[in-house]
Amino acid sequence: MRRPLVAGNWKMHGTRASIATLVAELSAQAMPTDVDVAVFPGLIHLQTVLAALADCAIVVGSQDCAVQMEEGALTGETSALQLQDLGCSMVIVGHSERRQLQEENDGVICRKFIAAQAAGLTPILCVGETLAEREAGLALVTVQRQVDAILLELGVDVLSNAVIAYEPIWAIGTGLTASPEQAQEIHAQIRVHVAKYSASIAQALRIVYGGSVKAANAAELFAQADIDGGLVGGASLNADEFSAICRAAGN
Ligand code: PEP
Repeated sequence: MRRPLVAGNWKMHGTRASIATLVAELSAQAMPTDVDVAVFPGLIHLQTVLAALADCAIVVGSQDCAVQMEEGALTGETSALQLQDLGCSMVIVGHSERRQLQEENDGVICRKFIAAQAAGLTPILCVGETLAEREAGLALVTVQRQVDAILLELGVDVLSNAVIAYEPIWAIGTGLTASPEQAQEIHAQIRVHVAKYSASIAQALRIVYGGSVKAANAAELFAQADIDGGLVGGASLNADEFSAICRAAGN
């Protein structure tokens, strides 16, 4: 039985005042005890959020890390070890906004994945196809290529301490959600693919869905056999909405 994970990606949102309000509201929410809950604030708010959520079960992670694990001469970057030192325990790697806008390719993402695990952080590896790829029937090929960039390079064992987030790019921030059946199909195929290398790791691997998840559609998505929770963008900025999504992932 996989323990669900609901992760809130706050992206480049928030001021000190709005983040203080959000964490205060989050700490006051009734969160389910059978779901792992994590939030990913912007880098400049990490310390504040870590301190404010220190007494609750919500895990705090980073939206990105450098390709190099240790500190060094990399202007503007933050290493996985620095994030771990701050108190983070997870990091998102390969978010589509970074793949597209920062031109991160599978090789760069693989190095970030290695750096994260080497520093003791659990990476959430984001994969997902564009609308053009889906319309050309290439959704699965694309996702499999992105998973293989880790799997074939590093071996299947690394997936025993990682999460995969299936995030179809056409559903991110657009209000369009993959139907539960569309999402389940890809999640199941990812698991089948990983199972070719290790059935037990595939069985234990958490594969979460991201793309316009809201309280209104979460339960239906999370009811699918291979959807183990969600990576939530916009809706995670509202504490009531986010906690309702978290509860939808519980039993
Ligand atoms: C995301 O950016 O990871 C995401 C899923 O965003 P949204 O929920 O806003 O679509």
